[in-house]
Amino acid sequence: MSESESLEAIILRRWDYGEKDQIISFLSREKGRLQGIAKGAKASLKRFGPALDLFTWVKIQVRENKNTSLVFIEQAQALSNFPRLRQDYASILLASGLLELSHHLYKEGVAEEAAFTNLLESLKRLEEQGAHRRIFWSFLLKNFEILGWGLHLQTCFKCGKSLNEPFHFFDVEQGGGVCEECRVSSRKVFSLSLSLLEWMNNPYQDKSISPEEEVLLQELLEKQYAHHLHLLPDWNRFLRI
Ligand SMILES: [Zn+2]
Repeated sequence: MSESESLEAIILRRWDYGEKDQIISFLSREKGRLQGIAKGAKASLKRFGPALDLFTWVKIQVRENKNTSLVFIEQAQALSNFPRLRQDYASILLASGLLELSHHLYKEGVAEEAAFTNLLESLKRLEEQGAHRRIFWSFLLKNFEILGWGLHLQTCFKCGKSLNEPFHFFDVEQGGGVCEECRVSSRKVFSLSLSLLEWMNNPYQDKSISPEEEVLLQELLEKQYAHHLHLLPDWNRFLRI
């Protein structure tokens, strides 16, 4: 019998399995995204309480299952269930987006502590600051960086010149910023303002971005996401604020 171990995790998804059990998808600090079976979670609320609710930050006791990649969830104890976030519809929508992205961007069983930290910090920001869409965008930018899809925004990716002039262009196909001289006129590039560029270089600041800049940022990030996953995202359902 394999030994059980304790993981720190965020609950991403849960669904019923048979009469009494539930399958839980979670992102752990130690082992990345995993799926587990919680025996009796559907039949008895007492066993796990609210610890397996979506968004909950938990200490979870799991045991490996030799026959499948599903682990057995033996115990779960909530560290925080983000009570303020849960009372606000707009925050719930944004948080749902963070969970869905974490589920799609990270393969099962690939450990990536930075992905866990990014999700936890973003949920804490929603809890403390309320439903600000910039939290969703900075979460995405950080994930792109973790996945190696980082947007090279400080210097021109062709000539290395610093991008501190009033006009900048972003070439999605190349995943980087280009200066005026190096941009290829036949290719679609995004023109970025200096303030948006500064925000993207330091997205965790609590400074807001203008509605026009946000439209541009969303389009750019959607293109970048589609470029890597060959799938156009539908983020508007998380952004109705
Ligand atoms: Zn250049």
